Amino acid sequence: MSKRKGKGQKKKKIRLEFRKKYDQSVRRKDFTHQEEHEDHLVAEQRISGKGDLTRKRTVVGDLVGDEETGFQVILDVDLSECLAGRVLSVHGLTTIVETDDQIYECATRGLLKSLATELQHVIVAGDRVMIRPASDNQATIVRVEPRKSVISRTSRGRRQILVSNVDQALVVCSAAEPVLKPNLIDRYLISVERTEIKPIVCINKVDLVEPADLQPVIGVWSSLGYEVMMVSAKTGFGISRLRRLVHGRDSVVTGQSGVGKSSILNALHPDLALRTRAVSQESQKGRHTTTTAVLIPIPGGGHIVDTPGIRQFQLWDVTREEVEGCFRDIRPFINHCRFPDCSHRHEQQCSVKDAVADGKIDVRRYESYVGMYEESQRGT
Ligand code: GDP
Ligand code: ZN
Repeated sequence: MSKRKGKGQKKKKIRLEFRKKYDQSVRRKDFTHQEEHEDHLVAEQRISGKGDLTRKRTVVGDLVGDEETGFQVILDVDLSECLAGRVLSVHGLTTIVETDDQIYECATRGLLKSLATELQHVIVAGDRVMIRPASDNQATIVRVEPRKSVISRTSRGRRQILVSNVDQALVVCSAAEPVLKPNLIDRYLISVERTEIKPIVCINKVDLVEPADLQPVIGVWSSLGYEVMMVSAKTGFGISRLRRLVHGRDSVVTGQSGVGKSSILNALHPDLALRTRAVSQESQKGRHTTTTAVLIPIPGGGHIVDTPGIRQFQLWDVTREEVEGCFRDIRPFINHCRFPDCSHRHEQQCSVKDAVADGKIDVRRYESYVGMYEESQRGT
């Protein structure tokens, strides 16, 4: 059932080592009857030189992805038995998947788990998957589709993917209380720049200031092509426009504490704030890793992506070498400096500093750059 023959599609054969312990864990699990089908996928299997500790299998599928999104094997499965779904959250061995008309609690097919280990990928919230229903509300994930974008972070030298296939990031800040920190917003913008995710700056609490006072800083971001919105969760100003922006899309919400993220969600849909609070409480209990993300369906379409980790601070890692390229306004000048490894701080004949002097780069943005550069230097 697994190999689609005669469809003219060329499938790669991929040879992987499987550690014995994963095979054992597969047998212990419930959906054993379905695991048997996996043998159809196995074109070749043999005991390697290391005895029964490892064995090699050739599986049929496409190897896709890269270091950024994680390598994935897209297994060749019989789609007629499957439903397409979206991973809302992962809780240990159980994954919650949303299909067009219902929610399933899913186990993950053993072979996929082995592949995940070998290729350093796991099922994460946001993944688009194919599931095989086993009963009314239970199913098995048989395939993970290629990821379009990921949010990841490096923890103890290992890159961890937190969530995939997010469309946009709402970078929330407040016009006052706490005071607007443009450099902090730049940091969020820079960390999103490497991804496929579109950042949207949401300046909340505009009821507390004179909107005209915000124009200079908003102007710089707008001129760089960033979408900037002024909103007030309190008065409702800008909320219907924001509601249109999140409709049908998957948005991650980020920004420092106290800027009004929950209030904005509450203004968008009362359901959303309640449900994000539940996510926080669950993660505080420490039952699951606090870094896992949850997709919260927006009534009418789309999702809010919530993770306590991302909510507090940006987790996208940007290395020192990447910082200059992530500043849209600095990027055009970096190749014209005298020194190829110019840090654009103290060097002579630096085109970036010249551009700042000529007013082509905003001074505040340049200071943001220097701050991020020096901080990332300390980190390395
Ligand atoms: P979060 O930590 O980012 O989720 O922020 P909250 O939503 O908990 O809001 C923090 C505080 O700011 C609360 O006391 C809210 O009442 C207040 N707040 C939120 N939005 C607004 C707004 O648009 N205007 C004003 N004046 N206060 C707001
Ligand atoms: Zn330079």
